[in-house]
Amino acid sequence: MNVLMVYAHPEPQSLNGALKDFTVRHLEAAGHTVQVSDLYAMNWKAAIDGDDSPGRDRSAPFDPSRDSKRAYRDGTQAADIAREQEKLLWADTLILQFPLWWFSMPAILKGWVERVYACGFAYGVGEHSESRWGERYGEGNLKGKRAMLVVTAGGWDSHYGPRGINGPIDDLLFPIQHGVLYYPGFDVLPPFVVYRTGRMDEARFARTCDELGSRLDELWSARPIAFRQQNGGDYEIPSLTLKEEVAPQLTGFAAHLR
Ligand code: FAD
Repeated sequence: MNVLMVYAHPEPQSLNGALKDFTVRHLEAAGHTVQVSDLYAMNWKAAIDGDDSPGRDRSAPFDPSRDSKRAYRDGTQAADIAREQEKLLWADTLILQFPLWWFSMPAILKGWVERVYACGFAYGVGEHSESRWGERYGEGNLKGKRAMLVVTAGGWDSHYGPRGINGPIDDLLFPIQHGVLYYPGFDVLPPFVVYRTGRMDEARFARTCDELGSRLDELWSARPIAFRQQNGGDYEIPSLTLKEEVAPQLTGFAAHLR
């Protein structure tokens, strides 16, 4: 299988660096092919702007969505964007690995998503009409592929529990897992989260690698998070609100799980 890891940490000798190296070694030893997009090492340009669509009409105002759609369609995107899209199409599974920074992904990784997820590639796919809102949330160009987050956090697991002060980890990761990954079609596996990173030592690191290794061994067999498909019959169209009879007692993120 082909695995793309998109990795965001500035320091190779960090905990994240060690976990990334472990993941690559483990997957390759199991016979898989791995590509790593090491965003800091690549000096990845995070800010989306007019340079991303080199052939655009510079007399017109820059429109991130319209210009990315045209550049994607015409094959005139910036080379770094096109290369990452090719890697995504090549991959059977995508791993996004990052430290939790301010309750989300580091800015450089957000910038990877914003630039690589061109209109027509990751969104704006399929028929858009009064009766259909495109192919997304379980459908789209990345359907059939799997994705998993590997996240490290300074906070304790209890801080991220159902009543923890930081909010439940599934809620914090919902915009990434449901929005960034499920939206363009990935089946999303439960995340691998390492909490309380300040308390890491060699023994705990070895245990963490064992647990991560087991999760990597199950990349192709684990059951994905049961998000509801947009076009699967649970939502009213075009309001895209859950039908009254679907999980009537639930609101918020939890309602979008089958
Ligand atoms: P490192 O700092 O590199 O290492 C952590 C520990 O692991 C160290 O003690 C190190 O000695 C040890 N270690 C490293 N490698 C090994 C190895 N190979 N074997 C054994 N031990 C090892 N946390 C939250 O919970 N929520 C937040 O919102 C949040 N926001 C943050 C925002 C910013 C800007 C920053 C800088 C931090 C934030 N944090 C937050 C904390 C952050 O999530 C953690 O610092 C980070 O996840 C730790 O990962 P690291 O790779 O940087 O670890």
